[in-house]
Amino acid sequence: MILGPKQQPRQRVTVLGSTGSIGTNTLDVIARHPDRYSVHALTAHTSKEALLEQCLLHRPAVAVLDTESDAAWLRQALKRAGHTTEVNAGSEALCEVARDASVDCVMAAIVGAAGLLPALAAAKAGKRVLLANKEALVMSGALFMDAASRSGATLLPIDSEHNAIYQCLPSDHRDGLAKHGVRQLLLTASGGPFRGWSEEDIAKVTPEQACAHPNWSMGRKISVDSATLMNKGLELIEACWLFNATPEQIQVVVHPQSVIHSMVAYHDGSVIAQLGNPDMRTPIAYGLAWPERIDAGVETLDLFQVARLDFEAPDEVRFPCLGLAREAMQQGGVAPVVLNAANEIAVDAFLQRRLSFTAIGQLVAEVLSRPANGDIGSVESVLAVDQWARHQAAGLVTRWSA
Ligand code: NAD
Ligand code: MG
Repeated sequence: MILGPKQQPRQRVTVLGSTGSIGTNTLDVIARHPDRYSVHALTAHTSKEALLEQCLLHRPAVAVLDTESDAAWLRQALKRAGHTTEVNAGSEALCEVARDASVDCVMAAIVGAAGLLPALAAAKAGKRVLLANKEALVMSGALFMDAASRSGATLLPIDSEHNAIYQCLPSDHRDGLAKHGVRQLLLTASGGPFRGWSEEDIAKVTPEQACAHPNWSMGRKISVDSATLMNKGLELIEACWLFNATPEQIQVVVHPQSVIHSMVAYHDGSVIAQLGNPDMRTPIAYGLAWPERIDAGVETLDLFQVARLDFEAPDEVRFPCLGLAREAMQQGGVAPVVLNAANEIAVDAFLQRRLSFTAIGQLVAEVLSRPANGDIGSVESVLAVDQWARHQAAGLVTRWSA
């Protein structure tokens, strides 16, 4: 056991997806508190140079990349620099660093369905799971929540909205929102970069425009999701699982300043909100230190500079993805898995300029309308549905981009 200056054991952390936007912010917070945290493992898909830099700085016991050839490159580079980090490759290696007995806390910050198995491995192993990878919950919410409750894992939401709601709810909220006098969860949305744009202009949107979010700096996939409002749809599903809520108990509120990160409305008329500068280090630090509070490197909100807070209803006609996600959750079963998979393929095709921005929602709607077989009773069956929907979506991309 390693003891820091405060004579408390340091938490050993695995950061899945450490080279991404959430991953680098996590390492920023960890580096501010060397007495509290040590890094067990860092992982990346293909960004081997970025992972090398992180390994040199944070000295993890293990690093993981996707392919064996990238892993061999990193192994050599670290050896030359005199480091003893073990370097592995592939998805089983990701699960291993998530469930390793020496690990206390796992930041699940891989983007998309690729993050499901390692996040689930952490939940099954009873870790403190800091969940950024919302797609994992969208695909397998029931399995995930069940695994966490069986193992006694502590699940802390990192998505800023869910982290805000978590902070505004009593700690024992999982036994039913009604019991705690909750009327509604108010999920805030910035509205994305194209809020108020005409349908004609939205149809011509480029990947560069979609990735330039007005308030948050994020990875490319979630930036596109924010622009289509699919991100809010995925978050609605995520909130249903995390807080044991129905889609009807969640109201999406467009709040362009992104200062209120979400709210909880209670039956007595109280509305409790969490506010802060739009900086993901706040929810990350909350998750790392919970139930304590630590410095996240984030300035206190200057309310005089904010000056005003605006609210409006989401435009579900110009941005149909939010409605598609709500319907998928209401339908239940495999529908959220199909929604997520079709969206991942459509966003990828948009980023490769093979699909227009407007076609993202159209493609997701088309795949959702097709009869899907399968069930969500096991992770294998979830992944089979995911593969089926990806195949359907890829076929449509080929046809629509021809
Ligand atoms: P990102 O694209 O910046 O980073 C993704 C990370 O995952 C990288 O380290 C990448 O190497 C790794 N990765 C990608 N594909 C992989 C694969 N197939 N196998 C293994 N590793 C893979 O993404 P991000 O913006 O940091 O988002 C990460 C997750 O957090 C997403 O699920 C996103 O929805 C969620 N999230 C992000 C933010 C944000 O502000 N960025 C906010 C809320 C939630
Ligand atoms: Mg969010």
